[in-house]
Amino acid sequence: MISVYPWLAAPWVRLASAAQQGRFPHALLVTGRPGLGKAAFANELARFLICDTPVDGARACRKCAGCTLFEAGNHPDFFSLSPGEDSSAIKVDQIRALSEGLTMSRHGTGFKVAILNPAEAMNINAANSLLKTLEEPTDNTVLVLVSANPGRLPATVRSRCQQLRIPAPEHDMAIEWLTKQVEVEQPDVCLSLAKGAPLLALELARGNALEERARQFQALVGVIKGSQDPISLAASWSKEEDLTGLHWLREWLMDLLRIRLTGSTRGIHGIDLAEGLQALARQMDCKVMFGQLDRVGRAIQMAGSGINRQLMTEDILLAWAAGTS
Ligand SMILES: [Zn+2]
Repeated sequence: MISVYPWLAAPWVRLASAAQQGRFPHALLVTGRPGLGKAAFANELARFLICDTPVDGARACRKCAGCTLFEAGNHPDFFSLSPGEDSSAIKVDQIRALSEGLTMSRHGTGFKVAILNPAEAMNINAANSLLKTLEEPTDNTVLVLVSANPGRLPATVRSRCQQLRIPAPEHDMAIEWLTKQVEVEQPDVCLSLAKGAPLLALELARGNALEERARQFQALVGVIKGSQDPISLAASWSKEEDLTGLHWLREWLMDLLRIRLTGSTRGIHGIDLAEGLQALARQMDCKVMFGQLDRVGRAIQMAGSGINRQLMTEDILLAWAAGTS
């Protein structure tokens, strides 16, 4: 049984039994939203497949020569590919080096394992090069592709992998785990904001994200009241590398629409801001909210393409101030 996170136990059991029956896939695509522990799962899987003497055929022994080398980070049968420091892409040279490494005879008695994370970071040449390896797998080799956005992988790569989706845990299991990790006043809020992903919820609980988010919500209310300048708020939001402000705004808009359409705050993500959201929902027109949601979604999507973030954010906040779409 996997010991990393309790919600990984079910997918683990499925894979371990496939390994016991000698029908482990040559290539596995591990998917799931951020914050569910995909990387930890892949790493534990590699450890298990490389172990020379797995316990009950279901987990790594953590004692053998293979486990010791793996733990030290220098097992010759293990390959880990991520974008290099100077790049956001996994490049074709990395895939070629991997393919060469996989053709060598193995060092231990377990599998040769490669983890590609995030797999969608492969550029098109790299993906094409990997296809050859996927089409003609070498013996005792397992490729583990990890991706939160499998849709960005070429269909030809996806179709040659067995997919394994890591599901979000049951609410009670997630809350129990979260409260064991950290002292947190509002575990439900953190988990709700993380959309049920426990590792993201933990990040929120450890940081001051909740306070900061409440401050930004008040700033947004201030924009409507005229007490907050939308241009200066846009300047501060567009400086954030991951556009946190816009991501929050998108969630609030979805919450506002839910409140307007159902007449209730049940099921909203921002349960800590329910009162403020309810007041805003009363003031805003559904059509305006849909228009805003569309703008914010486009701005987030285009942010990586070099379009001026500040101008886009200004547009959104000016429209928000005017209460028009
Ligand atoms: Zn071992």
